Amino acid sequence: MSYVLPTYGRFPLTLVRGEGTRVWDDGGKAYLDFCSGIAVCALGHSPKPLVDAIQEQAATLIHCCNLYHIPQQEELARMIVEDLVRIPGKVFFSNSGAESNDGLIKAARKFGHARPQPDGSPRYELLTFNRSFHGRTLGGINATGQDKVKEGFDPMLPGFRHLPFNDLDALAAAIRPETAAILLEPVQGEGGVHVATAEFLRGAKALCDKHDLLLFLDEVQVGFGRCGDPMAWREIAPEIEPDGISWAKGMGGGFPIGAFWLSDRPLERRLQPASSEETSTSLSSLMGPGSHGTTYGGSPLACAASLAVLREVPGLIDNVRARAAQIHDTVASWNHPAVTETRGLGLLVGIGLDVAKMDTPEGKLPAIHLSAELLKAGLLAPPAGPETLRLLPPLNVSEAEVSEALEILRTVLDRLGDSSTGTGD
Ligand SMILES: *Cc1c(COP(=O)(O)O)cnc(C)c1O
Repeated sequence: MSYVLPTYGRFPLTLVRGEGTRVWDDGGKAYLDFCSGIAVCALGHSPKPLVDAIQEQAATLIHCCNLYHIPQQEELARMIVEDLVRIPGKVFFSNSGAESNDGLIKAARKFGHARPQPDGSPRYELLTFNRSFHGRTLGGINATGQDKVKEGFDPMLPGFRHLPFNDLDALAAAIRPETAAILLEPVQGEGGVHVATAEFLRGAKALCDKHDLLLFLDEVQVGFGRCGDPMAWREIAPEIEPDGISWAKGMGGGFPIGAFWLSDRPLERRLQPASSEETSTSLSSLMGPGSHGTTYGGSPLACAASLAVLREVPGLIDNVRARAAQIHDTVASWNHPAVTETRGLGLLVGIGLDVAKMDTPEGKLPAIHLSAELLKAGLLAPPAGPETLRLLPPLNVSEAEVSEALEILRTVLDRLGDSSTGTGD
């Protein structure tokens, strides 16, 4: 008998300990962890810099609330803006990805009031994309372009529309007087690992400039090194400048913390600066005193943890790119009949499954069945949609660990694959 609400269908596994890329269950069995708590344990399990930072800060001051100044928050915000985003802006600290996106949704509505429709009524609409995932709060499920998260929770909030991903014509055609912002994942994670094209990011940015819209990036899963560059969009189209970004997951290496950043750029960016006195009003200043808040967000302990993680991230970019290449090259070399393709960016890898070539029991989704079989064989890797397996190792995973994990994957795929077609080599 469990008193926990049954919102999750869980795999039959209880983890009790972790170290680096390995975890152990309650029976003492070891697993390679290519799930990382869903892209959270960026430095692996119990990494020394993070453990030291948490222990030291916990013994000094855990929490004090946002009524007072918090130096760790100031330092973390400075690092994020100056060293990582490298575009002038301001940061708000939250506790999760969904909360960070809720902050962006509120900022879009503030912007829609400051820059209203021609008839003076506020703009309020956010455009997002099919198969997107933006979290489980009411704001998050409204923004998410998947029906399954909305079932039974209607009526939905007004002001959200979902469009085909990577389709610039559809995006251009969808913009209406009430549209205020575009929100997108540079790589759709939960929706099956789909990478935005450079053309799409550039085109979305150009449409934002043309129609006075905000470009928001949900980097909750892909940000802070998961895709290589600490800013995932720079790995695709480095020249574009977003107006807002949300993060969580890997940001605290396992300690709960999220954030969103808003640009300091003037609201009236399309006018010549010299011709307008209003250029002194910045986008970030719209979220002024009283506009938003959180009790826990940005506590000394959470910020100390995140500082310890983000200090390590720039040193891991080369490893992320090298290990990603290792995974794509190795899986491609198998020519495996059950694998249609590999997708992704950096260490967010999607392995497309040819479900017709896999032996899946009645009533089970192929990717979930594969995850369960991999678990039995000693590898943790989550699904992303019904036909995609996701690999999300820690950013400091070694070459040997990647080889070991791929050997397990190949063995299990061979076993599940249609025996008549062989392994293709
Ligand atoms: C996980 C995720 C979220 C939600 O984050 P939570 O911390 O679970 O609220 C939002 N957006 C994206 C892209 C995610 O991957």
